[in-house]
Amino acid sequence: MKTASIRWNERGQPVSDHYDDIYFSTESGPDETRHTFINQNFLPERFAALEPGQHFVVGETGFGTGLNFLCTWQYFDQYAPADTRLHFISTEKYPLTTADLTQALALWPELSAYSQQLVNHYPAMTAGQHRLVFDNGRIVLTLLCGDVLKTLPELETSVDVWFLDGFAPAKNPDMWQPELFQSLANKSSCGATCATFTAARLVRDGLENAGFMIEKAPGFGRKRDMIRGRLPEAVPSDDSPIWFQQSKTVHNKKNALIIGAGMAGAATARSLAECGWQVRVIDSHDKPASEASGNPQGMLYTRLSGNSTVLTRFITEGYLYTLSLLNRLEGQKTSDDTLWQQTGLIQLGFSAGEQQRQQRILESGQYPEALLQGLDAEALSSLAGLPLNASGLYFPDAGWVHPPSLCKRLLEHPNIEFTGNLQVTSVMHEGNQWHVQTTSGTTLSSEVIVIACGHLSSKLAQTRYLPLKSIRGQITQLPATKSSQKLQTVVCSEGYIAPTWNNSHTLGATFNFDDDSTECRKQDHDTNLENLKTYTPGISDALIDSALDSAQLKGRVSFRCTTPDYLPVVGPVVDADIFKTYFAPLRKNAKHRFTDTPEQPAGLYITTGHGSRGLVTAPLAAEILAAYICNDPSPVPRDQRHALHPSRFMVRDLVRNKV
Ligand SMILES: Cc1cc2nc3c(=O)[nH]c(=O)nc-3n(C[C@H](O)[C@H](O)[C@H](O)COP(=O)(O)OP(=O)(O)OC[C@H]3O[C@@H](n4cnc5c(N)ncnc54)[C@H](O)[C@@H]3O)c2cc1C
Repeated sequence: MKTASIRWNERGQPVSDHYDDIYFSTESGPDETRHTFINQNFLPERFAALEPGQHFVVGETGFGTGLNFLCTWQYFDQYAPADTRLHFISTEKYPLTTADLTQALALWPELSAYSQQLVNHYPAMTAGQHRLVFDNGRIVLTLLCGDVLKTLPELETSVDVWFLDGFAPAKNPDMWQPELFQSLANKSSCGATCATFTAARLVRDGLENAGFMIEKAPGFGRKRDMIRGRLPEAVPSDDSPIWFQQSKTVHNKKNALIIGAGMAGAATARSLAECGWQVRVIDSHDKPASEASGNPQGMLYTRLSGNSTVLTRFITEGYLYTLSLLNRLEGQKTSDDTLWQQTGLIQLGFSAGEQQRQQRILESGQYPEALLQGLDAEALSSLAGLPLNASGLYFPDAGWVHPPSLCKRLLEHPNIEFTGNLQVTSVMHEGNQWHVQTTSGTTLSSEVIVIACGHLSSKLAQTRYLPLKSIRGQITQLPATKSSQKLQTVVCSEGYIAPTWNNSHTLGATFNFDDDSTECRKQDHDTNLENLKTYTPGISDALIDSALDSAQLKGRVSFRCTTPDYLPVVGPVVDADIFKTYFAPLRKNAKHRFTDTPEQPAGLYITTGHGSRGLVTAPLAAEILAAYICNDPSPVPRDQRHALHPSRFMVRDLVRNKV
């Protein structure tokens, strides 16, 4: 996507080339924000009146330099009670580059405690939704990058306050359209307020036509007037397919039980804990990360595409979210254990097909250089530290993660309790609670249950309808040599190899279908070694000599969980019988109109199907689940939420009359 093209005026302030206009008042940006947006929306009083556990949602058009966000954060810190959270959602068509953002924010040293954190977590900008979490989850920023007329309708939330910023109607007529005003009303909570620096007739009329009650207020500085407004009644506007709509259940107890302590369960526990929930995580093993999430080195690998599909957008946003999560967790380090190494990652163009795919990615213009770069074999070899014989993609911010440390760090939160050696045999719903039976005979109860059992997630009666597949994988741990210490980056081709850690390199991984053997096999080590030799002989030569006996190598076997459409399964679990009976008319008519949703027991959720890229998908999936459970703004657009919804398979099968 296009980033903002900026020039700097004689006072060192940014001016947009696209709109030929300044980003904020030349007199004082922060004072203008306080006057126009903070005070005219009565934010100090409204923040102070929040009840413990409540969240407040601010929506904004035009993120720009992030000044309004930073000032709002500062006010929230000052006025809101401790146990409350701020969601700030902002749209931006031309995001600033990190360098421009840093330069602009340096203008306000009084905000540096906040702006430094924004700069540190500001992602490589791609079109789509980006979530940034600050202050242990108390402040959550969701950036919608792209044309507001397209991104706002895809947003899933109710906003309490709108900051209508962005360039003035005369400079930016494309934004101030009737569709914008209608979207603002559609995404507002009852009693939502709005304020804008402009008093243009078009804005006033547009807001009034959408249902806002508008009045004039004194403008900032030399501006005579501005306008502010209030939406007296919320506009019912959930036009999602009815089978994906759910009644907004409010779980007052804020207690959840999570089954499974791999990446998916641990990340969900953390996201819920940061929303103020008490979370108990149980696992059949004595410690977390004992199954697929237990490998010593997992690669931060994203297989992108030149097309903007739901899958590509989800994994791009997931990758960027995981990067910011890792940086956040690294900043809270309590021990010396290795969480991850940001070594960079190379995806080699190891075949003609792969090279064409990479070329399409580079030509798509979707990905900034900060995210990935196309480099020739020489440049890649120099980055890798060992010879590579093909061109490829280089991801400078990626690297490898120690998944057990990631799970451990995620679970290290005062609101989370872990109990091992508890294997769940069944789940049932009775008296508004879910009851979980375990092999030890214990029954645990909770209003909210999350199933995060990896490839075993469809073993329970409630989830048996999910078409999950288990794929065996074996990694090989190769002892490091003097020459192999030179390997500096992760290199991925048909398999992958990581730089040395604890005197060994992780080499992976095999794909064995219909195979449930947990034994480490020599033949699988040979497959991994053969891939290394075929596609990266320069690395293979540095590691393997004729004396190597693959039968003696160490390795690890575990199981991926995949789905037919390669997307994870994230969201509420419905009762399959009730669902199929209610939506049976779809068998005859895919366009049948339903007026309501069926009565369902609420509170059962799932996150699984993370395939070969759990590091990239499980953390963002956790934020999606937490948003469902806490009625928070969704971190991803509506089409992604639907594409991940557990009921999608049943809907497809009903429409095809297959169930
Ligand atoms: C060989 C291999 C290599 C991989 N390499 C990478 C990589 O480089 N990068 C990457 O991003 N991804 C990689 N993956 C994928 C990644 O590991 C998975 O996507 C991720 O670990 C899935 O996490 P999870 O929490 O869903 O499942 P798991 O980690 O399997 O966790 C599920 C947990 O649920 C528990 N559980 C199951 N049933 C019950 C029950 N009835 N009661 C109680 N507890 C239960 C299990 O004990 C387990 O701890 C790899 C996978 C494999 C197999």
